[in-house]
Amino acid sequence: MDNDSKKTNLEDLGYGAFFESNLKRLELDSYLVARVIAEYKEAYRVRGVAGEYLAKITGKQMFAALSREDYPAVGDWVVITEPDEERAVIHGVLPRKTVLRRRYSSKQESQVIAANIDVAFVIESVDRDYNLNRFERYFVLAKDGNIKPAIVLNKIDLISDTELASKISQIKDRFGGIDIIPTSTIVERGLYELMRYLTRGKTYCFLGSSGVGKSSLINKLLGKPAIKTREISHRTGRGKHTTTSREMYVLENGAIVVDNPGMREVGLTDSSVGIENVFGEIDALSRNCKYADCMHMHEPGCAVLNAVKSKKLDEDKYLNYVKLKKEVEYHGMTELEKRRKDHKFGKFVKKSLGQLKEHES
Ligand code: GDP
Ligand code: ZN
Repeated sequence: MDNDSKKTNLEDLGYGAFFESNLKRLELDSYLVARVIAEYKEAYRVRGVAGEYLAKITGKQMFAALSREDYPAVGDWVVITEPDEERAVIHGVLPRKTVLRRRYSSKQESQVIAANIDVAFVIESVDRDYNLNRFERYFVLAKDGNIKPAIVLNKIDLISDTELASKISQIKDRFGGIDIIPTSTIVERGLYELMRYLTRGKTYCFLGSSGVGKSSLINKLLGKPAIKTREISHRTGRGKHTTTSREMYVLENGAIVVDNPGMREVGLTDSSVGIENVFGEIDALSRNCKYADCMHMHEPGCAVLNAVKSKKLDEDKYLNYVKLKKEVEYHGMTELEKRRKDHKFGKFVKKSLGQLKEHES
């Protein structure tokens, strides 16, 4: 973040109606609001209207009983008090609009890597490790957290324009209308297009294997070598927090980028995810479905369902596929349709909570 302009308004940091209405609903509006912009080992750096603070969470009361997911993460909006000019105390985390999670193989616990990201760029380099199925796995991760995915194809200096065009049409065949931005940080192609894609006040992250060029791209966007570590001294004299795992930057055009060197952490190498190649496999099976427009949900003569029944297709894989498809459809819904759906869900939650209370009393 730019230290010269300490004063910001919250909208410039990505704040908006969603967070404001939750702040009111949860009756937290007597607190100051700030965004977590860096995560250290035992502290956070947060930024609010008055500037930046080194922040800690309130010990016992509020966070004691919570699961790991409830702890603040980079990108979170938190409510704070400000005991002095440099330090803040975090009292709670506002509900997240989107979330990027790390899953563990145990499936029981997951950890939030970053929150409130609007768009995740899934980046692959077009040379040797290029793989269409890998996009899919990252899309699942993004869509799981309600984040819109987009594709960056990097290192296009290594292939011909014809090859690039064929890669782009392959992607379109497979994934439809996803946004694709071809780039090269070496010969500086596509960087302007990427920059133009980024909107003021929106938050972005880059997902991709190590070596595809994430750091190079972020550095290009920043226009200077990224400062990976920054020293924060604070009065308590308990040392300096210098190593961050994640940090957020505001670019010159007002877009916000989460720099996350540890994206490998998202757990995609974990074989328990079990969705590698799921679309490809199901596509292949669906050629034998009775109906050409088969949704593979309950149609008679569905080859996909038959494969699940006969255990030729892993049931978890199939369920993942269905889930992903629903999420893709949800993203394609109109705002009105979404609101209707969310309204219904809200009612459902209220009803369930009511029943729970009755049950308890
Ligand atoms: P990260 O691990 O995803 O952050 O990848 P890096 O940004 O560290 O880049 C990995 C390597 O790829 C470095 O040697 C970069 O110089 C190189 N690289 C990055 N972008 C490009 C590009 O557009 N074209 C080519 N040919 N190499 C690139
Ligand atoms: Zn079918």
